[in-house]
Amino acid sequence: MFWSLSIFWGSYNINSNFYFNSISKIPENSNNFAITFDDGPNEIITPKILELLEKYDQKASFFVIGNSAEQNIELLKTINSKGHTIGNHSFSHSNFFPTFSTKKVMEEIAKTNKIIESVTLSENIFFRPPFGVTNPNIAKALKNLKMQSIAWNIRSLDTVKSEKEVFERIKNVKTGDIILFHDNKENTPVILEKFLRLCNEKQLKSVSLNKILN
Ligand SMILES: [Zn+2]
Repeated sequence: MFWSLSIFWGSYNINSNFYFNSISKIPENSNNFAITFDDGPNEIITPKILELLEKYDQKASFFVIGNSAEQNIELLKTINSKGHTIGNHSFSHSNFFPTFSTKKVMEEIAKTNKIIESVTLSENIFFRPPFGVTNPNIAKALKNLKMQSIAWNIRSLDTVKSEKEVFERIKNVKTGDIILFHDNKENTPVILEKFLRLCNEKQLKSVSLNKILN
């Protein structure tokens, strides 16, 4: 009973580090933390987010879906040129990703890396599994491709909760935290602006993962 429960939990909770290790905090240097966005780039929402990051002088990391990235190459170039990190969030973000073979996971990662690297002109090693799922096939794929999984320690739940509820979840942000947002959700820019104002008050600096982890 305990065993099957832990398998279930391990398979669905990236922070359990059950099948492979994920980074869920950054080194607690000075006043740094990391804002991350999943599921973009989105032609409507991502530009609004880039504008806010610029306005408040903060850097972030975008875990892009290859399929969306391919259709928004100019946007991908803008993310890169503003000094943010672009990481890999699979090609399809398929609901069946957790059932994919090692070979299929590797294909998804490689295909998306190719798109990212065509823009950044440097090797990408950062991967965030769709749904934060971990299993032996993804573990093997990451090992074979020498990719580093990046998790989070604060999940904003911006896809499901109200603006007020999300803000409650993120308002105690501190040095070393990695926060998960989504740049394909209509609410996120509004929440983000309120949050960035708070970061300025707290004198917290969001850093691009390339800067802090490479
Ligand atoms: Zn996702």
